Amino acid sequence: AALQLKDPTILRNHAYINGAWITGKASFDVNNPADGSKITDVPNLGTQETEQAIQAAHAAFPAWAAKTGKERAGIMRIWFDLIIANADDLAALMTAEQGKPLIESRGEVIYGASFIEWFAEEAKRVSGDVMASTWSDKRTVTLKQPIGVCASITPWNFPIAMITRKVAPAIAAGCTIVIKPAEQTPLSALAIAELAHRAGIPPGVINVVTADSEQSIAVGKVLCSSPIVRHVSFTGSTPVGRILMEQCAPTVKKIGLELGGHAPFIVFDDADLDAAVIGALQSKYRNAGQTCVCTNRFYVHESIYDAFVQKLGEGAAKIKVGNGVEAGVLQGPLIDAQAVKKVEQHVSDAVNKGAKVITGGKQHALGGYFYEPTVLSNISPDMLIMHEETFGPVAAVIKFKTEDEAVAAANDTDFGLASYFYSRDIGRVWRVAEKLEYGMVGINTGLISNEVAPFGGVKQSGLGREGSKYGIEEYLEIKYLCMGGI
Ligand code: ADP
Repeated sequence: AALQLKDPTILRNHAYINGAWITGKASFDVNNPADGSKITDVPNLGTQETEQAIQAAHAAFPAWAAKTGKERAGIMRIWFDLIIANADDLAALMTAEQGKPLIESRGEVIYGASFIEWFAEEAKRVSGDVMASTWSDKRTVTLKQPIGVCASITPWNFPIAMITRKVAPAIAAGCTIVIKPAEQTPLSALAIAELAHRAGIPPGVINVVTADSEQSIAVGKVLCSSPIVRHVSFTGSTPVGRILMEQCAPTVKKIGLELGGHAPFIVFDDADLDAAVIGALQSKYRNAGQTCVCTNRFYVHESIYDAFVQKLGEGAAKIKVGNGVEAGVLQGPLIDAQAVKKVEQHVSDAVNKGAKVITGGKQHALGGYFYEPTVLSNISPDMLIMHEETFGPVAAVIKFKTEDEAVAAANDTDFGLASYFYSRDIGRVWRVAEKLEYGMVGINTGLISNEVAPFGGVKQSGLGREGSKYGIEEYLEIKYLCMGGI
């Protein structure tokens, strides 16, 4: 089906540098994962254009930083309003290039926009402080100032929200930024850049450099090694996060990392079982399981294990799979062939080691990148799925006996992003919440993200927090003024 937009000019197929739409020497295709069709192509940029974008951001920085927070907030508010006004088109574009159902794309547009609204408001609240001096003739004062030119490298699973969660706090603080969106989903990034342009965000404040997977490595190197760039924020896999961290070391950059997860979901015997099943379905099958906060491992108390597995299986079997533009579809395709391969590997490894397929377990009859919503029981800790993020619609359910055993198993990983548990015992709720080694804990809920809450992980899931009142601090430096001669 051809992409129908109310405002076709929102589909940009050029990169955006210094307020201008630019082409490159080469281009790469953007395809629809639901049917493999080509949507358009975008410039495949490299080192030279990245340098150009950094220079543009550098040149734009002094004037943007000099504006008051209130002035920046006013412009950002217009950007927010434009995104909301164009939500239907942005959702259509997102479903076309990313595959998630329209209802989820629309949800992401609203969620993504919420960071712009929130940080526009926060722009007005960047304040230093005056500390009680230990010298009678001196005063001790701090200022908060924008860190400078920033760079962000973002993934395909949330083509808008992962950008706005970085760009909004950066520009609210007075920074300028170069964005390298994921090669699978550049159109959402370019569409919101178009709206930023219309909102009056000055040239150079936001720049979007598009590149394919190979060129992204070169672009990343330039962004990380540039002495002008003072902050790099990245959302993506842990291996790439490590590479970027290393590349940022020589110029001692501040970095924000949102990396992989391997979320546990514990259901205690005192839980509301039906509520736990609903939370499990939401946390597992959203975006076809392709989010870093999606549950990967379900730990269910032995006394309710069979009932939980049965209800989860029934729920999963009801999820309608198909092209995300079709009515009623709740699960779209996976992003690409590699993603399907990983899911197949995890399922066949589990089945070979004794797992039982309750529902799903194979590629969907639609073919392509579609995979059936799957529930596996008889899981044991030696299975691949219990150690690695699957990033697909597969629920692995394992039994436990005691609270200590469940918490220890949940923590037995290098990851520490999101975790979930269901219990109605208030003592247990506090005990378990405090013991889980995760940046985020969903208690009696499978959905936790919003703009006022700090998103981020511990251990090898990342560094720093995005969103919330803490998110803007990433993009600010504290300057201490010691004022003598009083
Ligand atoms: P995923 O496996 O979910 O695609 P990645 O971590 O590979 O996650 O990719 C996330 C983002 O990082 C994408 O924008 C991608 O282009 C970019 N990327 C991948 N490898 C590198 C690299 N070596 N240097 C810079 N950026 C990279």
